[in-house]
Amino acid sequence: MILDKFRLDGKVAVVTGSNTGLGQGICRAFVEAGAKVAGVSRRPSDETAKMCGKNFYNIIADLGSLDCVNQIIEKTVEKFGRADILVNNAGIIKRNDSIDFTEEEWDAVLNVNLKTVFFLSQAAAKKFIEQGGGGKIINIASMLSYQGGIRVPSYTASKSAVKGITMSLCNEWAKYGINVNAIAPGYMATKNTEQLRKDGERNADILARIPAERWGVPEDLEGAAVFLASAASDYVNGFTLAVDGGWLGR
Ligand code: NAP
Repeated sequence: MILDKFRLDGKVAVVTGSNTGLGQGICRAFVEAGAKVAGVSRRPSDETAKMCGKNFYNIIADLGSLDCVNQIIEKTVEKFGRADILVNNAGIIKRNDSIDFTEEEWDAVLNVNLKTVFFLSQAAAKKFIEQGGGGKIINIASMLSYQGGIRVPSYTASKSAVKGITMSLCNEWAKYGINVNAIAPGYMATKNTEQLRKDGERNADILARIPAERWGVPEDLEGAAVFLASAASDYVNGFTLAVDGGWLGR
């Protein structure tokens, strides 16, 4: 049955940024599809744990440095016996005029959004190869993987690079049965976009450009995430899938 291919029964996923926003939605969807999920967050993911029940395990880690990377995979395997899926969802944004942008604003964003994404993917891929059954890596990209954005130069750099390494890792790891893909969310109503939504003028500009005529919500991403985590996408490699209410087509 084709719908069975979308199920995640018996699979173990690591999802970063599990306490809120898009990551929380992905954790909930994966558990509903049959997976066990190790959610990684800086602060406890209590709300997510309540939504997901016993198939959710919270790993507390700060993804701003690489110290935690190997432990995340080790703890997941310790708890659930294996690892099959990694979603690199955690991400931050710093807004400032490029003329005033600081090294700290640059490094903070590049560390979480790119450096840790690469090395956590590497740690996961080593585990997938050791286990022998392939795996799935899903990176969360952005509209700014395609466009320049305004006042967010480090974010744009990081998300353009996320789209790039999604292709480069696919080229090296597809032969192991590891699918590396990305999802580029459009404008979604989460903490990440709170400032934009509060700015009447920017909010109106953004809404006017979205063909679907609304901000996205975490639930909008869940179908794409389950698809890319499941056997239904076994021959999809290195692709960044936009879930954007039509923004890129405009
Ligand atoms: P969000 O609500 O701000 O969530 C971001 C998540 O990342 C939070 O769980 C956050 O934890 C976590 N995080 C940030 N820095 C971390 C660190 N050093 N260590 C561990 N966790 C850390 O934003 P979101 O919208 O759900 O964003 C999820 C992903 O989608 C991000 O990569 C973002 O760039 C991307 N995205 C979002 C949109 C959008 O419109 N919302 C559009 C395109 C792409 P804390 O709560 O502890 O900070």
